[in-house]
Amino acid sequence: MLNKPDDIAQMTSAELQNLLLELKARQLELEVQNHELRANLDCHERLFEKSPIGCLTLDKEGFVQRINSTAINLLGSAQQAIHGTALADYIHPADKTAYQDYLGKLADTLTTHVSTLKLGSQDGKILEIECRGSAGILGDKMQICLVFNDVTEHTQSEKNQSEIINKLEDTLRKKTDHLTEINKALTKTVDELNYSRHQLLEREAKLNSILNASIEGIIVIDMAGTIVSVNAAVENIFGYKADELIGYGVHLLMPITIRKKQDYYLQKYIQIFIPKVLGQIREVEGLRKDGSLVPLDMTIAEFPLDGMQYYSGIVRDVSARKHQELQEKEHLEKLAHVTRLGLMGEMASGIAHEVNQPLSAVVNYTQACLRFIQNENPDLEKIAEVMQKANQQALKAGQIIHSMREFVKQRKIHRSTVDINELIYDAISLFEADFKQHLIAMRYELTKSLPCIFIDRVQIEQVILNLIRNSIDALKELPQFTQRQLSIETTLNNLNHIVVRVKDNGPGLTPMQRDKILTPFFTTKSSGMGMGLSISRSLVEAHHGTLHFNSKEDKGTTFYFTLPTESAENGRNKA
Ligand code: ADP
Repeated sequence: MLNKPDDIAQMTSAELQNLLLELKARQLELEVQNHELRANLDCHERLFEKSPIGCLTLDKEGFVQRINSTAINLLGSAQQAIHGTALADYIHPADKTAYQDYLGKLADTLTTHVSTLKLGSQDGKILEIECRGSAGILGDKMQICLVFNDVTEHTQSEKNQSEIINKLEDTLRKKTDHLTEINKALTKTVDELNYSRHQLLEREAKLNSILNASIEGIIVIDMAGTIVSVNAAVENIFGYKADELIGYGVHLLMPITIRKKQDYYLQKYIQIFIPKVLGQIREVEGLRKDGSLVPLDMTIAEFPLDGMQYYSGIVRDVSARKHQELQEKEHLEKLAHVTRLGLMGEMASGIAHEVNQPLSAVVNYTQACLRFIQNENPDLEKIAEVMQKANQQALKAGQIIHSMREFVKQRKIHRSTVDINELIYDAISLFEADFKQHLIAMRYELTKSLPCIFIDRVQIEQVILNLIRNSIDALKELPQFTQRQLSIETTLNNLNHIVVRVKDNGPGLTPMQRDKILTPFFTTKSSGMGMGLSISRSLVEAHHGTLHFNSKEDKGTTFYFTLPTESAENGRNKA
């Protein structure tokens, strides 16, 4: 610590010597410090000068005071030219106002602010500068320090980047829009496909339910005879489950006899056999799983699918029909038998007449022979001739009796309770083919809920068949395009008898025919026997009914018969 001058004056020389030494030491120390400071300053100068960042200081008015080489390069001018000039001269006209505002802000706030400014250099290049500035008071003057960072490239690359990004975004947007459009179209197509798939599934389900509800078996095979699909009815008909058939040869369903032959030639068999029967209904036999045979009506159709050819066989189990046909045949045989039985009774009345004729002829011829023999010279030739005639007549009688015996069997009546309308439907159904063939319009006028009758079903059916057959024969006589009508009617009369009427619009009966038609052996037909009506009448009468007819020439004929109901029968029995 230095003493005051007054003190120095009062100091001793020793003290002054000491003070001098102290001062010298102090001077040395200061010189060292000064040297260090200079070195530091140099270092700072060098740092300032060589800094890769542009640095410059301005006075309050914005005139350049100090500037490093990087900043000079940025401003694009010589150091001497810049010193003392206003930095505003280097600012791009577009940013001049912003620069002045920025300087004002630095001066006002005396804090650090960052701004981006454009420098318009003399060679026409525009540089983008990030400017970090701060203002401070140095002594009594304000000094503004600015640090320039050239961000031209960075900004340019940012700009380029953002342009690229914009372009990319634009392309992306366009692509996205395009994809959205495609997506929309695809969604629509998918929706449509889903809809049609749904419809197809629905159709398939419907088709399957129809196929499976069908009572006909449907078997689809390929060209090699392999079963491709079967419906539910096939299982009922053949007894195989679908998975026991699909993938196997169709010969599995064929009778052993055909199967053995076709085992190795199935494909050939299908190629030869199927085209011959396409579209036709064929009666064939099928083989069930249990080994039994089943009669079938079969139709085959051909169809292509996905470039392949398939055959679908539709088979109907006709066992029931076959059984019924058999029964009908038996029934008809029974009817024929009844006819013969009826004939026997009726022919008994005609037999006397028929057999009497040849017998009396035989008697006459033999008597004549006897007379010839009693002559003296009997004429043997004549006798032989007469004997020949007698022989012929005897043979004729024999034939009549022989044919009578054909009809003669036992006659039993089997009564049962019968619905007459039902019986009529059954009987007349046998003539369907005749009605079609001869264009006859058949009309049923049957009263509903008629009481049941206790009759021999077969016999009464025989009566109805005879009457219908006669009407059909009569209608056949009408000219070709005349309306041919036949009707059958049932009613209940006041005597509680059921009345059955068979009416036709045929040629009717002449008065002579009306007199004779109920007589045995009267017929106007070349192949007729003339027994139908007399048998019918006796059958009806055997049931305590009556048979009548109404007819006029050219006005048609009506035959009608009555049959007592059970209550009428009971009343009759009591009486
Ligand atoms: P067949 O039919 O064998 O001749 P029928 O006794 O059944 O014997 O009939 C006798 C005759 O009565 C017939 O030949 C026919 O001339 C006549 N006849 C029967 N029914 C009719 C009818 N509906 N219309 C016209 N003639 C009939």
